[in-house]
Amino acid sequence: MIYRELCGEKVSLLGMGNMRLPTAGQGEHIDVDKAQAIIDRAYAAGVNYFDTAFRYHGGESETFIGQALAKYPRDSWLLASKLPGHMMQRGADGLLHFNAGLAGQAPVRSVAEVFERQLEKCGVDHFDFYLLHNVCESSYDFYMDEQIGVVPYLLEQQKKGRIRHLGFSTHGQAEVIDQFLSAWEGVFGFVQLQLNYLDWRLQGADKKVAAVARHGAKVVVMEPCRGGRLADINPRCNALLKQARPQASIASWAFDFVKSMPEVAVVLSGMSTLEQLEDNLATFADDTPLTPAQHRLLLEDVVGDLIDLVPCTGCRYCTEGCPQGLDIPRLIALQNEMSYESHDAAYFILRGFKPQARPGACIGCGACAKICPQGIDVPGVLRAFAARLAADERA
Ligand code: SF4
Ligand code: SF4
Repeated sequence: MIYRELCGEKVSLLGMGNMRLPTAGQGEHIDVDKAQAIIDRAYAAGVNYFDTAFRYHGGESETFIGQALAKYPRDSWLLASKLPGHMMQRGADGLLHFNAGLAGQAPVRSVAEVFERQLEKCGVDHFDFYLLHNVCESSYDFYMDEQIGVVPYLLEQQKKGRIRHLGFSTHGQAEVIDQFLSAWEGVFGFVQLQLNYLDWRLQGADKKVAAVARHGAKVVVMEPCRGGRLADINPRCNALLKQARPQASIASWAFDFVKSMPEVAVVLSGMSTLEQLEDNLATFADDTPLTPAQHRLLLEDVVGDLIDLVPCTGCRYCTEGCPQGLDIPRLIALQNEMSYESHDAAYFILRGFKPQARPGACIGCGACAKICPQGIDVPGVLRAFAARLAADERA
């Protein structure tokens, strides 16, 4: 097992994500015996970073992982969990309500109630790593709300030794990440990002990594295989990768891409079977970075085969002259993401936009297209994007 340093701790580069554990019956409950076998094998092989969250497996994940690790000395494993602030809001009654993603949860008076419940469920007296779950455009105000006081409360818990290291996960844009880290400079030692070779450009992950590194924080990677999609791409791409490295699995390319980055301290994989775990253990026994040629093969040939992106570089030359004040590169980035697949996160972000900031607000004046150094037909792209959104809403 390869180890790296995160907030002064020696962490296994392969981290166990506990959001895709094996399930029993109709899939609604964790198959405890199978999941325990995965945890035991991971622990025996040197994995020491275990990641969970309030909402994983409908709330069962925290309870399971606490029990699964309880037989091992507490100082031999590191537990990370997350506060579900991205699914909470302050109601007119002053209580904190959970949204539809956590339907059935009774409102709470403060985040302290959630935090205490999490410690209790995990059966621990402290979290080694504690994260704000998905700090993004739509949750930013909740996490910054002075009356709710999320960060000050967590800093208090850190002083008491109930949290050792603070971080946050995010699906937000690089600008939001930068803004949040600036607002709490020095507080968050790590940021959990969706990072893989497909999202390097598709979701602007390159800019997100740079924003995190600028603030001296480390990256914990989520979705390195994009939910398993990069473990079996398509016949043409699979053949390309097999030709370049006959012995390596297709999934190992995705892991090697993120392993090659010095900013990365932990790569989470939500492993559902012992076979996946064994494949990952083999990949994480070797720290050889990808060569420049292998890097190009992924970012140019494989990604080029998978998606047809609008080639916006995000230079923002077009935004100043837009009479509608549209954030054009942002909209194009979202359209790129959604042209690849119906991505829930992109819809989630767009729903937070006011109507006058959405693609349908473009009046087609063409000022942006005249100035764009990439020659992009911006009004045409936004028109098509607006039509797609309208069609999706009708569906
Ligand atoms: S064409 Fe649309 S996006 Fe471009 S400047 Fe005019 S209103 Fe803005
Ligand atoms: S000018 Fe062109 S490349 Fe630059 S941000 Fe606007 S659309 Fe993108």
